Amino acid sequence: MNIILLAPPAAGKGTQSLKIVSKYGLTHISTGDLLRESLKRHDELSDQIREVMNRGALVSDEIILRLIEDVMSSTEHGIIFDGFPRNLNQAKKYEELLTKLGQSIDLVLYLEISKEEAEKRIVGRRTCSNCGKVYNTMIEREKPLHEETCDVCETALTHREDDNVSVFRLRYETYMNETEPLIHFYEEKGLLKRIDASLESEEVFHSIVEVMDSLI
Ligand code: ADP
Repeated sequence: MNIILLAPPAAGKGTQSLKIVSKYGLTHISTGDLLRESLKRHDELSDQIREVMNRGALVSDEIILRLIEDVMSSTEHGIIFDGFPRNLNQAKKYEELLTKLGQSIDLVLYLEISKEEAEKRIVGRRTCSNCGKVYNTMIEREKPLHEETCDVCETALTHREDDNVSVFRLRYETYMNETEPLIHFYEEKGLLKRIDASLESEEVFHSIVEVMDSLI
């Protein structure tokens, strides 16, 4: 099964991906995580990528598609993409790649949330760099048990460089200009399902499970 999670920044793509993976056993691929991983190399390319990410823009399609081809050639099971495709060109290239591999997209989950709600989530967001679990220090029910450490694996939590209000607003603008048109693109193909992502994460997941179970 190949799934795409489509959503504005901070809608909960990462959180829901982890839940989907543990229930359905798909491979989770987050282009944001792959890019953040590549920043650790500190070479010329990673400096360029950091600069683009920190102004809320999109990394070039060429770099992204190279990353995608690499991961897809080494993945046998179904994939859940989080943060890809992010514009029409990526969506079309992804289709071509799937056709070449004799595969297709089964479902596009669109996590709907208002800009205001997403912005509230940004400032307190913390992520475990080891297991990927996402916390929010500003939201009571999403705080870690011990300040700044992961409940699951006790790794120190990290705060993303691009998780501040000013970069969030730029990321949101990029989303509206480049990614939002994909809603119509996938709706026309009959692949899009809308999920209310403003609810508590367990409730959001419950809606996702309903949709996914109806497809299996
Ligand atoms: P969020 O889920 O909050 O939008 P991501 O981790 O998905 O954050 O992405 C962070 C940044 O990484 C984006 O703002 C963008 O600069 C870059 N990025 C991630 N995925 C893509 C992609 N498919 N194409 C281009 N840039 C990307």
